[in-house]
Amino acid sequence: MSRSATPSRRTLLRGVTVTGAAVIGFDPSTRSWAVTDSDTTTDSDTTTDSAATTDSAATTDTRFAGIPRLDGTLTMDDSALTAAAEDYGHMVHRRPAAVLRPGSVRDVVAMVRFCNQHRVPFAPRGQGHATSGQAQVEGGLVIETGPLAAIGPLGPGSTTVSVGAGAKWSDVVRATLVHGLTPPVFTDYIELSVGGTLSVGGLGGQAHRYGAQVDNVTALQVVTGAGELVRCSPYRRADLFRAVLAGLGQCAIIVEATLRLIPAPETVRHYTLTYDDLDTYVEDQRTLVEDGRFDYVAGQVQADAEGAFRVYVLEAAAYGPPVGPAPDDAALLSGLRPVTSGVEAADLGYFDFVNRLAPVIEALKQAGVWTHAHPWLNLLLPGDSAAALSGPVLENLDPADFGPGVIQLYPVRRDRLTTPLFRAPDDPVPYLFDVLGAVPPEDTATIDRVLRANRAAYDTAVAAGGTQYPVGSIPFTQEDWRVHFDSAWPCFAAAKRTYDPRNLLTPGQGVF
Ligand SMILES: Cc1cc2nc3c(=O)[nH]c(=O)nc-3n(C[C@H](O)[C@H](O)[C@H](O)COP(=O)(O)OP(=O)(O)OC[C@H]3O[C@@H](n4cnc5c(N)ncnc54)[C@H](O)[C@@H]3O)c2cc1C
Repeated sequence: MSRSATPSRRTLLRGVTVTGAAVIGFDPSTRSWAVTDSDTTTDSDTTTDSAATTDSAATTDTRFAGIPRLDGTLTMDDSALTAAAEDYGHMVHRRPAAVLRPGSVRDVVAMVRFCNQHRVPFAPRGQGHATSGQAQVEGGLVIETGPLAAIGPLGPGSTTVSVGAGAKWSDVVRATLVHGLTPPVFTDYIELSVGGTLSVGGLGGQAHRYGAQVDNVTALQVVTGAGELVRCSPYRRADLFRAVLAGLGQCAIIVEATLRLIPAPETVRHYTLTYDDLDTYVEDQRTLVEDGRFDYVAGQVQADAEGAFRVYVLEAAAYGPPVGPAPDDAALLSGLRPVTSGVEAADLGYFDFVNRLAPVIEALKQAGVWTHAHPWLNLLLPGDSAAALSGPVLENLDPADFGPGVIQLYPVRRDRLTTPLFRAPDDPVPYLFDVLGAVPPEDTATIDRVLRANRAAYDTAVAAGGTQYPVGSIPFTQEDWRVHFDSAWPCFAAAKRTYDPRNLLTPGQGVF
């Protein structure tokens, strides 16, 4: 590869590195993009066109299909393409040809139609926290949703709020708390985009009471895979609404979501109860989600001093005034069986509670673990066999393969999960079981071993009626997705044919 500062004002590129350039055209015959020059690194696929002008978004050269006039930017900037070929998993890298930073919803519509016209695959990308290339698209267009982050309007009596799909949950809750309101359910880590979590489900310790985040959406504005801008809800274009929530970005790009709001507490009493027996831990968790005495129930499995994963930490939180009464420790903890001296409690402001992982994340970033590979296992287990299925995985987990990771094991309630594409076991109290390891990215042997173990654990879980929670890294085929979506598959596949008829949208999920 040679490097040349080209004198031309525009360059036609296939598979080259470009810095500081904006895309202005697409050559359908060569399937390559035209860009303004600024600093171009060329290879043998490159041709230059010195006659062209750069001051118009739409080229006048008949070889090119002009890019629609945009409010935002379309770029082939090297750093933008590199970032779009990366995610939190740090294992899969598919480099797009261009990245759209939309200045408006109109930009998304225009570029989706353009991609359809020229058969260019495309995918929305929120915060890029998927772990297996789910938001990546080789040679296609990545649409960053981050600029679509408006929140509101909002008032003290609001029961819903409309937010741009690129808004982060941390920004949403900051805005709603000004009015004493909050979305009901949060993921543990709140720097994820609204569109990103609504495309998978969105689980947290409040899900046993309110369902997943997808169960708390009253309406959506989406751009379908064919480029149609549509408002949908349970009462309007309901087939599309149902195909988008937990729909893995297959049928449409969410550009705005209307989220349910509830009154927020000012403070939260946050308990941790330590157990030394898996069955007791699981049974006590089940008691709590069945009787509903806490607003939040979750829990982790940790390693003991010998490195064995057999310390079980039940997490529970009770919301204080004005949502609930002042927490009564004796009533809340009655009948639970943690080890002696295994109970701790702390009172936190509500935002600090929702954002409680922030210091942990900062420490992981400081330690360099954030950029490790994350070959995650995320399962939903039938409650009646949660201990029997998770126990052997924990026993066989090699701390060396797991690194400085986190294991979660906590129940939800099936009757609160109402979104058809959110697949959960047919059991009244399914358990989320997440083995969230971190491996140095260059240690490919360990990554491969963990991925194989993930698959084996998935197979065992499915045979017992479990499912995967599709945010992790389980090697999966199209046939596996059919099994995963099960009775929801025919409607999902029909929606895909209707709303993304050219099968261009979000190929990184590998569903269709
Ligand atoms: C540190 C960490 C903690 C996490 N904790 C939790 C947790 O507690 N609970 C939980 O449920 N999950 C959790 N997750 C998983 C997380 O919810 C998903 O990975 C989520 O999809 C990430 O959101 P994102 O904005 O980064 O999406 P991206 O990674 O950008 O995208 C994920 C998928 O959604 C699609 N997508 C993105 N935006 C849109 C849109 N606007 N419309 C349609 N499709 C879209 C993408 O194409 C891609 O297929 C966690 C992940 C990490 C890394």
